[in-house]
This record gives sequence, structure tokens and C-alpha cells, in this order.
Amino acid sequence: MSSPDFPADFVLDLHDLAAIILDCHARSEERFAKSQLVEVIADSDDMQTLPGRIAFLPEWSAAEKQGQKRLAYVLRRDSKQKLRVTFENFAHRDGVKLQQGVELTRRALESAYWRCKTYDSGFMLAYVAQRVFESLPPTARLRARTSSGYELICSPTDVMVMEMQVLPHQACYIVTYEEVLGPQMIEWERHQSGFLQPMPWVYLFVGNPVSTDAEDDTRVALDLALMQIGGRGRANEPFALERGVDYHEKVLPRFAQESGDLVASGKIALSPAHIRKQGDDLAEMVLSRLKKMANGDVYFCGYCGKNGVETRCSQCKQARFCKECNALAWKYHKVWCKPTGI
Ligand SMILES: [Zn+2]
Ligand SMILES: [Zn+2]
Repeated sequence: MSSPDFPADFVLDLHDLAAIILDCHARSEERFAKSQLVEVIADSDDMQTLPGRIAFLPEWSAAEKQGQKRLAYVLRRDSKQKLRVTFENFAHRDGVKLQQGVELTRRALESAYWRCKTYDSGFMLAYVAQRVFESLPPTARLRARTSSGYELICSPTDVMVMEMQVLPHQACYIVTYEEVLGPQMIEWERHQSGFLQPMPWVYLFVGNPVSTDAEDDTRVALDLALMQIGGRGRANEPFALERGVDYHEKVLPRFAQESGDLVASGKIALSPAHIRKQGDDLAEMVLSRLKKMANGDVYFCGYCGKNGVETRCSQCKQARFCKECNALAWKYHKVWCKPTGI
């Protein structure tokens, strides 16, 4: 059976897919859609933005006693605001309060942005990738190119869901408040990760299993929610696309400790219905981008996934990156940039 949307020989690059999924997700997630970053707090108990009587929950102190690093992002929400907050205006227009020694570089702002956007969305992001793979013609190919120069080509059906528990090294609060409604609108419990208890974690394992020995296993791990625990891929992307052995030995241990067994579970099924609908809507959004891509619309940034990007890499004249992303993207792209011409 042929799929009219994708040519039979379509090759889906997983690095591009990850950037596009995250971009679409950031454009559609509702939790922090109208929230701007106003303060970043590392380890300290002092909050400058909110009244002094607002204290952190006891877990905050407990995390310090356990030797975990602590980080809080304070977001101000404006439910009357019409426009969705994007990366470009995520930092509050009056500025972001920082502690001494903390600098809000583009990279730090990006970390805060992605950490909020991917918060608690690991299963949904993996579900969307799974839906994409199911929608491709069986003759299509997945291409995984890692930052260490490793390449894997496989069928869209060669994908497994892996689940485990992780305990992040960094305890992170995302504090949201709405100024006009006062401190009662502060949400603590719903936005915390890495406090004392391990949390469920999921990633996709791509490729045909050829060995049960991790060192010889040729499969590639695709983790779309790594930013939730402050993690990044080896080329600093806000996701991980690495050989399984590298993911488990070099990427994840920098940000979290695995606890319990790694389990290959069946397909991800989201519930309840409204969460599944969010996942399905997001999958449709991603698929419509990919269909355009399969039909020649390649004007997206290979780092942030943003659409409508004209600027091309000056060396290969093929890959496209936003001006702002160019420098951040190069660490990965230089591994795969093949200059054309003489
Ligand atoms: Zn970009
Ligand atoms: Zn290039």
C-alpha cells in the first residue's frame, strides 16, 4: 500500500524530527503558554520577585541536605495576554532577576525555556514520535546520525519504547504565579522534578536489536524530554540522539541517576482522553510539517525546528539555521556538514 503523503523512499532524519517535534510542542503546550520568566534562583532561599512570606516547600531544604543542586524558575503568568509567549519574548520585558554570579546567556535562557516546555511531557513527546513512525510508509527509512559521527538507517517499525526510573541530580521548581490574583495563585506542587523520589522516564530505542550486550548494541536512543532535568545531548541540543551505550554511560549520568530496571515496554498509549487528544493534535501538527518537508519545503532550522528559515549553512549550502541558532547548532552540524562544490 502506498502512502500519498510521503514518497515510498522518504528518509526521515531523527535529528530534524526531534527539533520539529519540540518546536511544535512549544507552540502548542498550554501550561506555560502565557508565562514569562522573571527570576532564576539557584540554591538560595531568597526570592526577590515574590513577597517574603512566601516560602519554599520543605522539599527544597531537604534536597540541599541530600546534596542535590536546587534550581527554581519563577514565571509570571498573564492569563489576559492574547499572544502566546515564545522563546523570543520568554524573558520578561522588565528583565529577569538573577543572583550574583548567574548570567542569563542565550543558552541559559534556552535551558529555562525548554525545561518549562518539556516539563512532564516525556511520554507525550515519545508518543508523538511513535505516531509519526506509524504514519510513514513501511518502505520509508529512519536515519539517526549522532554527534559522535555514528549513523544508523532502519525501518520505521524498528522502534522500541524503553522505560525506567531516574533521580535527577538537580531538584527543579517551576513556580508560576499570577500577579493580579496574588500568592494564592502560586503553583508549587505541579511543577517540581527531581525532589528526593525517582521519576518515570521514557525514551525511544531505534534500530534492529543485534546484540544483548550494550557495547555491541547498534541501536540509538532518542530522548525528547532530557531538558526537563536540565540535560542536553552531547552536541548541546535540547534532546538526546545518541548510541544507546553513549546515552546510558555518557549522557544520562551527567544529569540523573538511573534507579530500577530498564524495561522495554509496549507502545505508549496516553490517557485520559484529553491528554491523548493533546498528543494526537501535536502528532498531526508534526506530520503536516513533515509532509511539507517530504514535498520539498526544507525551510526549517535544523537546531530549533522553527519554520520559514532561509539562511543556509555557508559551507554545505544545504542545512538551514536561524542566525541566532547558527553557533549553537554548529557543534552537531560540523560532524555531518559535507561542503559541496570545490
Ligand atoms: Zn533556529
Ligand atoms: Zn553545513
